[in-house]
Amino acid sequence: MWATRHTALSFGYRGHFVGSGVDIGAGGGYLFAALQILGFAVGGYCIYVHLAGLPYCKDCGLYFKDKGKQTRYFGDTDTVAASTEGFLVKVREERFQESIQTHAATGSDKPTGPSMFNSSIELKRCKGCEKHFMKFGVMRWVNKEWKEIADFNYSAYLMERVEIIKSLNP
Ligand SMILES: [Zn+2]
Repeated sequence: MWATRHTALSFGYRGHFVGSGVDIGAGGGYLFAALQILGFAVGGYCIYVHLAGLPYCKDCGLYFKDKGKQTRYFGDTDTVAASTEGFLVKVREERFQESIQTHAATGSDKPTGPSMFNSSIELKRCKGCEKHFMKFGVMRWVNKEWKEIADFNYSAYLMERVEIIKSLNP
């Protein structure tokens, strides 16, 4: 029943907003406002969360809650590439906590140098079944803003209770 209602709302959204040409990239603020209004109109906020690409747990019908984010900064292409490769090697082996540890040991926790990159790991969890969602992305500082490098995106659902690394020297 939940799924049926959800789908109907999604179609409603497409007809009203995407169809009339809202630019999601540049018009983020406007889109957010429009969706808030729509959310009140249809009596639910799930439509906004779903269409903004935020993950939800299909098993429980719950949206994932933020658990933490770990961002590292790099001064050049070589260091960000090495860090990303190190992270992806662990992920491919399904050693997810180690992938977070590996990432934490690279770069620095503050922006450095003129040619900058950052990479981040975001964790979310389902309060119902403890399924975790891990998202990794790399961004480059271009024209005074961070732009995502789409080729390096990675995301996965895990049943492992992974944690962000607070400090490498506890
Ligand atoms: Zn769940």
